[in-house]
Order: sequence, then C-alpha cells, then structure tokens
Amino acid sequence: EVEGVRCIGCGAVIQTSDKNALGYTPQSALDKGLETGELYCQRCFRLRHYNEIADVNISDDEFLRLLTEVGNADALVVNVIDIFDFNGSVIPSLHRFVSGNDVLLVGNKRDILPKSVKESKVRQWLRERAHEAGLRPVDVVLASAFNRDDIASLMNEIETYRKGRDVYVVGVTNVGKSTLINAIIKNATGDSDVITTSRFPGTTLDKIEIPLDDGSFIIDTPGIIHRHQMAHFIGKKDLKLVSPKKEIKPKTYQLNSGQTLFMGGLARFDYIKGDKQGFTGFFDNNLTLHRTKLDGAADFYAKHAGGLLVPPMIDEVANFPKLIRKEFSLKEKTDIVFSGLGWIRVAQPAVIAAWVPEGVDVLVRKSLI
Ligand code: GDP
Repeated sequence: EVEGVRCIGCGAVIQTSDKNALGYTPQSALDKGLETGELYCQRCFRLRHYNEIADVNISDDEFLRLLTEVGNADALVVNVIDIFDFNGSVIPSLHRFVSGNDVLLVGNKRDILPKSVKESKVRQWLRERAHEAGLRPVDVVLASAFNRDDIASLMNEIETYRKGRDVYVVGVTNVGKSTLINAIIKNATGDSDVITTSRFPGTTLDKIEIPLDDGSFIIDTPGIIHRHQMAHFIGKKDLKLVSPKKEIKPKTYQLNSGQTLFMGGLARFDYIKGDKQGFTGFFDNNLTLHRTKLDGAADFYAKHAGGLLVPPMIDEVANFPKLIRKEFSLKEKTDIVFSGLGWIRVAQPAVIAAWVPEGVDVLVRKSLI
C-alpha cells in the first residue's frame, strides 16, 4: 500500500504488489500519476481508456459487505452463473442477502452446450438447482457473452424485470461476468465513453456503473473467489486448455468394470462394479481422455502425469495437488461432475470412484442431458 494515496476513479487505496487485488497500479504508472496528480488504479485506467473491465478479487469480508449493500438497495439482482459449472458458480447465502429483491438468473456460456440439448430443459434444470440453493429467481435466461443477439435479448429481459430500478450484476470469478459486462457496455453505449466509476472515497468496494436511459445504473460488482473451482488449482495456460470455447462434443466410452478413464492428469474415473456400459464424457474437446486398467492405474498416473496425461504440464506436476478418491453407488441416470472441468454421464446402475485434485469438488447430480 502507498500511504494515503487513492485512485481518483474508485477511491481504492493504491498498491503495487498484488495484481489481482483492488487498487493495483504498476510502479511506473504510480510514479507518473503522483507527478501529474491524475492517478488511477489499473482497473479504472483500463476502463477509462479501453472501456474494458478487468477482474478484481475481493476478500470474504468485503464480499459480505457488498452483498449487504446489494440486499439493502432497491434493485434487480442479476446473478451470472456458468452453466458448465453450476456448483462452482453458486454464491453462498446469496438468497439470504437478497431476500427482498428480485433475482434474474443468467446461465452464461450456453454456446458450449451441445446443440442437441433443449434450452427449455436446461432452464428448468437451472431453476431446480437455484431452488436447491435457496434462490427463487424471477426468471432464468441462457446467454452467451460472445453472442450479440443474446446480449440484446438479455438487455430486454433486464429492462422488463428491473421496473425502473438499478441493476446489480453479481457472480463468482470465471463465470464470464466481465465478458458479459463488456458486451453490455458495447450494446448500451455503442462503444462511446460514457462509463463512470463510482466515486466513494473511503469505500473499498469498487463498482462500475453503466448509466441507463432513465437515470438508473447497471452496477458491476467485483467477483468473489469460489475456492473449489478447478480454476484455482491449475495454471492460467492449462485453464485455457480445459475451458471450453466451442460447442462440446460428447464422447462415449464403452467400459467394463475394472477400467479407468483419466481426464488428462486432472481427474480420474474408475468403473468398479456393474455391467459393461457406455459412459459419456462432457469435457473440452481438447482435453484428452485416456483409458486404462483400474489395476495399476495409480502407477500409470505416477509414470505418465505431465507426459501422456496433460495438463498439468511436466514442470507443474511436482506442485500439483494429489488426486483424492470418492466412491459413489449409482442407481439411476446420473452425472458425476468434476467441478469446473466437466462431467461424465452414467446411464445404468454402477459403483464408481471419482478422483479430483485435493480441494476441488466432485458431486453427483441428476443428468443434465
Ligand atoms: P469473470 O471472472 O466472471 O469476469 O470471467 P471472464 O469474463 O474473465 O471469463 C472467464 C472465461 O470464460 C474467459 O476465458 C472467457 O473468455 C470465457 N467466457 C466468458 N463468457 C463466455 C461465454 O459466453 N461462452 C464461452 N464459451 N466462454 C466464455
């Protein structure tokens, strides 16, 4: 921290050490800013000059304060989630904070769902998951932040439900909130430079306000970190490799009990007991799935992680968390979800084990597809 120096855009205390935290400013920009008296943090600088919103991560305390503020505002709350990783998208106890406000649930990244999937089914599925998390959204909308038409119809939905009120956009990191907000800005302003950052010196929450026609705002809030996402366990390059950018092509493997599938070196699926059957993997098309015998799978992993089984890359293997095993006895059509990576659909009764890096969630859900 640089004592007493704040960003003139958002009021955050300027610091030069943590790129991902509030108030970050490169040393050179700080020197220059102190000279000219016009000092912006990197986030506000980018926003001013490129209309671009960067991720900023905030602590749990700050996030609680933010949620309280959202809860106290008379506003429409737009909760952006990643369809591909619902559980990694949930904001814990959001429902308690926004109890008085309408919530619009936006399932982002719909472009990567296989085209064969019916949209109404996904929306219904998301609604059920939201209910389980205690949320009662006024509506569920699917969107791709990359698709202009989607952004236009999302704006229409927001217009319908906000009823003249402000709009708070909330979401955990990696769900695509920044991409979505940037697309909304393009849509709303035609790229012109009308975005204002909030000016509340002394508050640590920096918010981005996009003005709407009637004097209300769309307010972008910093993303919260969801610690159990795969994203926090693998390098940025690897993350690119396993984050789907295009429609997922499901791959089916006929397995006998006693066989194992490796998802690169990131996760593992053992078929322990049951009749021969097809298991369908929904992962990024670039992630290589490798079939081997359950007997000796541990040795296989030790030998090939970082080589045949990537990511993690060879230089990352030493620091990669060990895989932890969870066993499931399945009776009906189920998805085994490797949080943030994808899922395997199990159609027939089976006993299986799923392995994920220590700290990453693995869970069972009713089949999405
Ligand atoms: P944030 O942390 O929630 O602000 O997420 P970002 O906007 O930084 O996006 C996280 C990753 O998801 C990036 O690699 C984006 O390119 C990608 N992404 C964002 N929106 C979409 C989308 O609609 N479809 C797909 N396929 N990827 C998206």
